[in-house]
Amino acid sequence: MKYVLITALFLGSVFSLAAQTTAFIGVNVIPMDRERVMANQTVIIEKGVIKTIGDAGKVKVPKNAVRVDAVGKYLIPGLVDMHTHLLSDSDEYPDYIAPDELRVMVANGVTTVRFMIGTPELLSLRSRSASGEIDAPTLFVASPHLTGREQGNNFVVNTPDEAREAVRKSKAAGYDFIKITTFIKSEAYEAAVEEAAKQKIRVVGHADSRFVGVERAWKAGQQIEHLDGYMELLLKPDAPMKGSVSDLYIYQPDNWKSFDHMDEARIPEIARKTVASNPYVNPTHHFMKNSFGRLRTEDEIRAQPDFRFYPAKVQQGWFDFYKKNKMINTVPLEKRARWIELREKLIKAIHDAGGKIMVGSDTPEFMWLYGFGVHHELVALRESGLSNYAVLAAGTRNGHEYLGSLNVAGTIEKGKRADLVLLNADPLKDINATKDRVGVMLKGKWHTHAELNRWLDEIAPKIASSYIEHKK
Ligand SMILES: [Zn+2]
Repeated sequence: MKYVLITALFLGSVFSLAAQTTAFIGVNVIPMDRERVMANQTVIIEKGVIKTIGDAGKVKVPKNAVRVDAVGKYLIPGLVDMHTHLLSDSDEYPDYIAPDELRVMVANGVTTVRFMIGTPELLSLRSRSASGEIDAPTLFVASPHLTGREQGNNFVVNTPDEAREAVRKSKAAGYDFIKITTFIKSEAYEAAVEEAAKQKIRVVGHADSRFVGVERAWKAGQQIEHLDGYMELLLKPDAPMKGSVSDLYIYQPDNWKSFDHMDEARIPEIARKTVASNPYVNPTHHFMKNSFGRLRTEDEIRAQPDFRFYPAKVQQGWFDFYKKNKMINTVPLEKRARWIELREKLIKAIHDAGGKIMVGSDTPEFMWLYGFGVHHELVALRESGLSNYAVLAAGTRNGHEYLGSLNVAGTIEKGKRADLVLLNADPLKDINATKDRVGVMLKGKWHTHAELNRWLDEIAPKIASSYIEHKK
């Protein structure tokens, strides 16, 4: 009996994709091929793919189809998070929670993800997602990061040879990108970039101002994360300091004094040069703004819907950090506000210059969880002055364009993978509508609001209780 049951479940998971036909009836489609809404459509999904899109009055719904009444609702492509990590990437959480972590993303409408620091476990999850073994977003995985200093999940590269070897090993292991972080010296950086070009793999990540800097990263065509190094570009030449507030510089209270020496007039030129080098920019703006710029109170943190996913020890750890960190407790609010303002002007200018802004949450650090963080980033980009359409493009098609997967996903078109989110309201009128989901379709499999909320209720205590405490 038990055997039969297990077999049935197994077959169920393998064949459900192929078997399920779904029809969204009477829906407003936001296809994201250009700025428009196609009102009152019926969309048929078969074998994981968008089969038909047409006027609700004309499209014939197959008899076997699961019918989703979508009159007055809005259908958008699944969301893309171009910068995230798992809690289980660290040794403070067990690997077995990873599939649940990925379901938290799906429950938030995130159907494609790029992990920015690779591990062998993430490569295995990428295959398990692709084969349909787990309900997970489509995954892209950058390499373990190349750094000048031991920081975990990394290649420490201090010589050109070490850098070349790290690139070759990453390529051979099957990683999708080469990730650069901090403390990497310019000779090692040059070697990594050269070897990556030879191996035909793209370089992404930080541009540590102390050694590499944005101008060198531009020359390499690197895709830069966090607007790293950009504040340093705005510093006037006669400023008494070299560093401003990028990357690890954030933690040095003195560097915040740089905001008395900024040359805002440079922004248009910086934007132009950015677009000429690599138009794809992933500012992870919400993360930066709301972790270091606009400080949250303890009550605000407790009220977050993702708070319950964090173990009590970790919650307390972050509260203590916020109470004790020197930078956080000494840098005046007006300096932080100026930092946010300049970041937002850069984002807007890069967009206006033809850049492709992407959505990256940089979760789950600082008690911002993946999935939820994507919606925060959409709002943060809107607050930077992008239109709702531009923001939605950042969260859907732009990421796929960069990943090279726009031919299979990222817009709602016939023949594309059925990664979709059904919303109660129009996100082109108010971007906050992305949080108000009716359900999520992942690779053609429909998950209702109630089911997704059940997942979250079930997963939150599971993750929170899986924490492994390491005595220091
Ligand atoms: Zn990150």
